[in-house]
Amino acid sequence: MKATPGVDLSVWPPRYDPAYRPDPASEYWFGEIECADPRARDRLILAKLRRQLEWAWTRSAFYRRKWEAAGVSPATLESLGDLAKFPVVQKAELRASQAAAPPFGDYLCVEPGEVARIHGTSGTTGRPTVFGVGRDDWARIGEAHARILWGAGIRPDDRVLICSFFSLYLGSWGALTGAERLGATVFPFGAGVAGQTLMAVEWARELRPTAFYGTPSYALHFAETARREGIDPRELGFRTLFFSGEPGAGIPATKRRIEETFGGRCVDMGSMAEMSPWMTNAECRHRTGMHLWQDLVYAEVCDPETFAPVPFGGEGTPVYTHLERTSQPMIRLVSGDLARWTDAPCPCGRTYPRLPDGLYGRIDDMFIVRGENIYPSAIEDTLRAIEGFGGEYRVIVSRREAMDELLVRAEYAASHAEPGARAKLSATMAVRLRARLGVGALVELVPEGTLPRSEFKARRVIDDRDLYRERTSNV
Ligand SMILES: [Zn+2]
Repeated sequence: MKATPGVDLSVWPPRYDPAYRPDPASEYWFGEIECADPRARDRLILAKLRRQLEWAWTRSAFYRRKWEAAGVSPATLESLGDLAKFPVVQKAELRASQAAAPPFGDYLCVEPGEVARIHGTSGTTGRPTVFGVGRDDWARIGEAHARILWGAGIRPDDRVLICSFFSLYLGSWGALTGAERLGATVFPFGAGVAGQTLMAVEWARELRPTAFYGTPSYALHFAETARREGIDPRELGFRTLFFSGEPGAGIPATKRRIEETFGGRCVDMGSMAEMSPWMTNAECRHRTGMHLWQDLVYAEVCDPETFAPVPFGGEGTPVYTHLERTSQPMIRLVSGDLARWTDAPCPCGRTYPRLPDGLYGRIDDMFIVRGENIYPSAIEDTLRAIEGFGGEYRVIVSRREAMDELLVRAEYAASHAEPGARAKLSATMAVRLRARLGVGALVELVPEGTLPRSEFKARRVIDDRDLYRERTSNV
């Protein structure tokens, strides 16, 4: 592989030149790496991985304990394939580590005083997780995100409107720092305050941003707000809309709807906050599914039980490993998401593997009805897109006379209480669920507020066919 201008890869962590920027006409930020022969790039990845493992081994009681118990050490890693010998990390272990060694856990590999930024999860699954990001790590996150946004088609002459929460949520901050490093004009507008969407539409009309960041559902809400003001969202002039936080931008129907609504490219991105730079799963401007930017964060798509990597073409759960993170490095963190991966070429010329269907479900909540794989996220997406849905639902799977039966108990909104409206709503739900899931579902409507809400992740799927076990929706 040729030397890459803009970065010194002979040191670890790599030293980036903060003044480097490719020619705007260039397709790539670091073409030598992005389009390299994968075998040549794997040598670079292996060299980085060795240093990353050493770093974690010498500085983290968490990893030393885990790896000693599994009989591995950095010396175990002779090839990239040897990474699969290392035990995976589950999110629950991170929470336990932080409970025992607050606030950052015993996987913090820098001095607490070197933490430049604190972020975290909202804590809806119990104890919130604290993210401590070192100063140099934060700069490298900006470098990685700038490079990946370049691949999505963002250029320094773009004006990027960021319409997502600026709080604990790392998504907004990651988008901001990447767009800044790329040299674009950023407008960190935020979201979540009453009346803010209308303001965002008004500001967008004045300032003519050319790029949008947020969640897919927020973008559609933004578009509805614009239309209510008599503004066609296409007139706003967004060339690129990039997303994370929800799978929608990778779902073909949602992607098409966003592109038709705004007249710009809809680009799917995102892995996990723990894995920041979280953009290392990201589509290029050709939108053929998310590339895995393997020399930044190394991803393996693994069997959900053994955590051994599956061959290209196979389905499994992505397991991620940092390659240039000093503060809270993640070595084989299990995402719990579901994806298929491929090494088929992409028209962009990058040789990274891809997730052609994005992240389309969770390993812990898929169930099978009459031979079809059903994801609760698909049921949720379908219901939430229907006007008159009251906000909560349950899915009950049972077996009657050797036939699997799928019952969706859904709330109707107060506005749809009239029997005629209810009958219509129930029919719409049944038709759309069948189209989405590939199997028919019985729909039972109950008034809004009937089904219990939970502060924690709600248990929405009850499978009582033969095992009488309850499954958890974890989306
Ligand atoms: Zn591509």
